[in-house]
Amino acid sequence: MRELYKTLDQDNKIEQQRKMFFQIVEKSNINIVTCGNCGLVVFHKIGREGDICCPHCSIESDLSNFPDLYY
Ligand SMILES: [Zn+2]
Repeated sequence: MRELYKTLDQDNKIEQQRKMFFQIVEKSNINIVTCGNCGLVVFHKIGREGDICCPHCSIESDLSNFPDLYY
């Protein structure tokens, strides 16, 4: 597993990505998630109700199948 060889420096860089991700989400009110089926990135408005349809693989599912890019 790659995780095992992660350096502290890498950890900091990933943490920076995470912080920037949350800044983007907060400012735009658009969440960035990944599709549980094809793994590609999908945007959706925060507070939007109902299922999400992945534009890449056309799967339609609830939010639980679309985990946040960072959490
Ligand atoms: Zn998909």
